[in-house]
Amino acid sequence: MYGNTGKILVVDVSRKNFKIIEKDEKYIKKFIGGALMCAALYEELIDGHDAIDPLGPENPIIFATGPMAGGKVCGATRVNIMSMAPESVGIYLSQAGGEFGPSIKHAGFDALAITGISEIPMILTITNDSVGFEDAGDLWGMDRVAAYKKIIHEMGNDYSVASIGPAGENLVRHANIMFEPDHYAGRGGLGAVLGSKRIKAIAVRGDQDVIFKDPHAVRSINHKGGQEFAENMKKSPRSFLGMLRRLGTFGLLELNRKTGNLPTRNFNSGSPDDPEFLQYKHDTIKSDIVGKINPCKNCFVACKKTSKANPEYSSLAEYESVAILGPNIGLENDLKTCLKACELCNRLGLDTISTGNIIAWLMDCFENKALDAESMGYSINFGDGEKIIKLIENIALRKDDLGNLLADGINRAVDKLGSKTKPYLRFVKGIGIPAHMPRKKPGIGFAYLHGPNPNDHMKLEHDWIASDPASLKKFNLNVKSAPDALDEAKIDIMKTTQAYFAAMDTLSLCLFVFGPGNVYTFEEIMGMLNAATGFELTFEDLMKIGERAIQLQRKLFLRLGGQDEKFLPFMEKKIPKGPSKGAKINKADFENARSHYYKVMGWDKNGQVLSKTLKRFEI
Ligand code: SF4
Repeated sequence: MYGNTGKILVVDVSRKNFKIIEKDEKYIKKFIGGALMCAALYEELIDGHDAIDPLGPENPIIFATGPMAGGKVCGATRVNIMSMAPESVGIYLSQAGGEFGPSIKHAGFDALAITGISEIPMILTITNDSVGFEDAGDLWGMDRVAAYKKIIHEMGNDYSVASIGPAGENLVRHANIMFEPDHYAGRGGLGAVLGSKRIKAIAVRGDQDVIFKDPHAVRSINHKGGQEFAENMKKSPRSFLGMLRRLGTFGLLELNRKTGNLPTRNFNSGSPDDPEFLQYKHDTIKSDIVGKINPCKNCFVACKKTSKANPEYSSLAEYESVAILGPNIGLENDLKTCLKACELCNRLGLDTISTGNIIAWLMDCFENKALDAESMGYSINFGDGEKIIKLIENIALRKDDLGNLLADGINRAVDKLGSKTKPYLRFVKGIGIPAHMPRKKPGIGFAYLHGPNPNDHMKLEHDWIASDPASLKKFNLNVKSAPDALDEAKIDIMKTTQAYFAAMDTLSLCLFVFGPGNVYTFEEIMGMLNAATGFELTFEDLMKIGERAIQLQRKLFLRLGGQDEKFLPFMEKKIPKGPSKGAKINKADFENARSHYYKVMGWDKNGQVLSKTLKRFEI
């Protein structure tokens, strides 16, 4: 076997034991890694059960890597994580960069699955095929960056570390998982799953080589990609990849402001009124805010940066965090508090997107008198910097009644505070909407409302592709749509790019590197994959693998309680001002798009996967 190891490590922290499951080449060729292997293993490990408590011992959490992980390939360092979502219903798949994926591979495994609940807080240590269960009592309650530094100091920095903060320990429903001190698997609340198992951290190290069928071919395609990338950076430093290299995803703030795609004040507008918002101009970000490159290993795109504005912070906050904890909560002109809020979430272990959405919802409720200060004994308005910082702490640490209520998830908060707060919700099944305006990008907005991974902006190409014939041609798509349309052609485009993105998640590859039109051509990607694994897959095979990942996740998502969201009424209200003024989604277009989507996906009129579809994908 090449690329993969065919070994899965399954650890039961209740009994403090482990086993290694061996998979043959047929299984590996079918499920490969990442998203698809996560789903296959999740189904196997829950052993026929249909009701899984996300915080119960029976809920496995799975970390899967890809066939090129650990092989010094640019962008092949992602790790996929799947479990039941404490924040929502059904399973959720989250991803992160860093070194955790390659470290699992170097320890000799394609994936790591954890079940059970430990009696005491613990660090799970995996060193090649030996597993240790260490007491983590002294780390419990510790801020995550401090805990990471202590672990590395004691164990050595050749370990890659996944950890949770106090929010995960306190079972906050939108707690996240941090990898090293600067990579995050943010969505779904999977930090609370580790918290429920009393796992403060997982430290992995190994020294096994990753064996490729034709390492020379992999190296040479990777090297060529690096050379072409460097030349393109010189020729077009202001291209999308050039922007990522120079400014990280922070640079997307200005791009999205200009197009009216920057959520502002609870998604009520797509652009702050003041073009000098967050006190920077595009030309001065580099000199004042963005620090050095801090990439995932072997990545030459290097979107990750240190923070020049706040060198003591663990990293420069990413676009999603700065948008949702910036303009979206009224901090358009207070970059200092915005970055402080992002850093606090990172240290306490909260997903920045859902945290920002919760705060924005509360603010909108108070400003529109759906909640009043008198009966609540509390109020918060857009831009209330001090209260924002306090509220984040109170949620993560469950410090007061309101913090405790919000820590239990938005749905419980709405139940308690009343239906008059519902019009201000920007959530799908309990998960906050990411920082791309659904009304401006109706294809993305449509995808937000559908499982298997609702509210994930990284599961398909964004709507711009509809007006780019060259990109459509690469996917053999012979359809016509428009960026602002939600028609059947848009759904056909979505379906195709969803399959491609799911294939990349299955290979655990970074979409900034492997996204359509980014660093490598499709031919180069297939060349690298086949040289790494020894498979002889075509691009059509790869797309089928991507769709298999979607269909299997969909089957599990529905079986475990997940549902597609109904149309959200705010999507039908026109954006009132700014560059995206007038944008909206028509409910009738949405209903038609849903019927067409179910049909082309091979689902019945209720969205259930038809048995002939399951058969087609052999799942
Ligand atoms: S582009 Fe960014 S996220 Fe992707 S591998 Fe490189 S540094 Fe990591």
